[in-house]
Formats: sequence, C-alpha cells, structure tokens
Amino acid sequence: MLPTEVMQLAQQEMLDWHGSGMSVMEMSHRGKEFIEIASNAEQDLRDLLSIPDNYKVLFLQGGASLQFAMLPLNLIGKTGKADYSNTGAWSKKAITEAKRYGEVNVCASSEADGFNSVPDFNDWNLSGDASYVHVTPNETIGGVEFPGLPDSGEIPLVADMSSTILSRPINVSDYGIIYAGAQKNIGPAGLTIAIVREDLIGHAADSCPAMLNYETHSKADSMANTPPTYSWYLAGLVFKWLKDKGGLQAMAETNQRKASKLYAAIDGNDFYSNPVAVNNRSWMNVPFILKNAELDAEFLAGAKQAGLVTLKGHRSVGGMRASIYNAMPEAGVDALINYMNDFAAKKG
Ligand SMILES: *Cc1c(COP(=O)(O)O)cnc(C)c1O
Repeated sequence: MLPTEVMQLAQQEMLDWHGSGMSVMEMSHRGKEFIEIASNAEQDLRDLLSIPDNYKVLFLQGGASLQFAMLPLNLIGKTGKADYSNTGAWSKKAITEAKRYGEVNVCASSEADGFNSVPDFNDWNLSGDASYVHVTPNETIGGVEFPGLPDSGEIPLVADMSSTILSRPINVSDYGIIYAGAQKNIGPAGLTIAIVREDLIGHAADSCPAMLNYETHSKADSMANTPPTYSWYLAGLVFKWLKDKGGLQAMAETNQRKASKLYAAIDGNDFYSNPVAVNNRSWMNVPFILKNAELDAEFLAGAKQAGLVTLKGHRSVGGMRASIYNAMPEAGVDALINYMNDFAAKKG
C-alpha cells in the first residue's frame, strides 16, 4: 500500500506542480523544480533516519536485485571475498549473484530449518578478511526478521533493507551500506535507494560499468543519467507523510502493535499457524497457513469480498502472507483478524 493521503496529494498536483505549469512527469530532471523536489526528498530521508554526513544517499534504478551485483562489483575487490548470511530467498539470490565476482563465504545459514529462524549471532563463522558482510534483516518471503545485528567489527556490514527500511528507527552508522528497492516501504517501483558510507565509494573494479559504479552516482548527485523522477517525487511525499505521522519512532510503535495482534490471532486459533521462531518474526510480512490447504482458494475469495487483497503467499512457500508495511493502517489489520476469526469459526 501507499498512504491514501500521498496518492491524493499526487493526484491534486498531477497536472500542475506548485503552479509550475508542468506535471512532475514532464519536468527536466535538471530543471530547478525537480532539483528542489529531489533535494527535499533526500533531506527528509536524512532527517527520518538521522543519516550521518559521511553517508551519501543515492537514488538509483534496477531494484534491489541490481544491488546484488552492484555491491560486489564495487566492494568485493578489496580482499576478493565477502561474507553472506543465508536466511531466506532474497539472501540466496544475493549470494548467487555475488559469486560471479568473488569468493562468497556463507557465514550463517538457516536453510536446514527451512529458513524459519535467524542463526544465533554467536555461531556465525565470519571469515575476518571479508571485504564486507552482507545481511538481509527482513526476509520478505519467509517473514523472518533479525533480532539485532552480528558484530562484524571493522568490516562493513551491508544490509538489504528492502522490506524493513523506515519501519522503525535504526542506527545508520552500524552499516557500511544500506540498500532498498522502493516498492515495499518507500514508494512506487522504479526507484532503489542506497545509503553508502563515503569511504566505500571509489573502489569499483576497472571493468565495472560506469552506471553500476557508486562513484558515478555519488559524483553526479544521482543524476548521471535521467533518474526515475516520478518515483523519486512520490518517495519524497511518503517521507513528508512519515514526518507528519511522528517519524520512525511513531511508526515503530504502530508497526509493532499491528504485528503483535496479527501473530496473536494466528497463535490463538489452531486453524492458523506461522512457522517462524517467535523472536525472529517479521513486523512487516506475516506468513500463515490454514490447517487445511484445500480451503486456501475459498479463504482468498472471501477475503477479496471483504476488501482484503494480496494475501496469497509467495509461490515458493504457499499459504497466505499479509504484508503490513507502514502504509497499512491498523484498521486494515483489525479487518483481517476479524475475517480470519469468522472464517475459522465457519470452517474450522
Ligand atoms: C523485494 C525484495 C528484493 C527484490 O527487489 P527488486 O526491487 O524487485 O529487485 C530484494 N530483497 C528483498 C529483501 C526484497 O524484499
């Protein structure tokens, strides 16, 4: 979901942005109007996450999936090696891609338990000479979330935060790089944000295409070529909305409450279950299965009637998945819980 207020504002401004006589879609990315939109969005994101001055914020394209390649292309060359944790479908993809560019040490894996937990940080096998340590703090498909971070010492921690960024406050300086595709918790698809510590810029392999080099984007303020202007603008409106809502501390409180009540509803009814270790359960993505998978289609059809959509689990795991990102109001979670209870009472 995107916040309704954001879409309404975009609708009002669609044909004529602030009296400019242009839609944001029609602006030159080098014109003063768009430069203002772009820099306000960056500043609001910096404020929300308290991003320190020695980090660049890059507005990129290609999704988080392109970061799976861009990251090693820029950084793995330092020692030729990187540590990756393997905690779900997205880490696995990141690992597969990184292997094209260097040696990958899988420093922790929960694959043997079906990706239903995060390996205890004390048991991680960090190689000590990795160029960076890569983690996926929220595994979107499995609904598995890190309870904290491993201690990687001086080695930069890189996090794919596609499905958890802006869900709560974080300490940016714990990370070397944070990246996220926009379409989960930031704005519409087409934009990818990378928050990169400055000393990690400028180390790309010679063979790295210019457009995949963090340095190119950093030097050009993310305007080395035409950026995804409309997605950038909408992301900026979402950042303003988050500030108006009280920022990330307020978001964290609402998100935690939303998730807790949904898990309580699942755990409290033996018609439903969630396989994830309790202290690794995601606030953002809540997968659950019905006791009888033959009722899945009926559950989904009834949910749609009740205005509850996009509940089908990822094709790789089946069952259901409720993604309850920032823009999902608590009332939406309440409606889902009511529907689940009614359905179980009728069919259980
Ligand atoms: C959705 C997602 C991706 C893939 O994002 P794209 O922007 O579609 O490439 C990668 N990592 C995580 C954690 C995701 O949730």
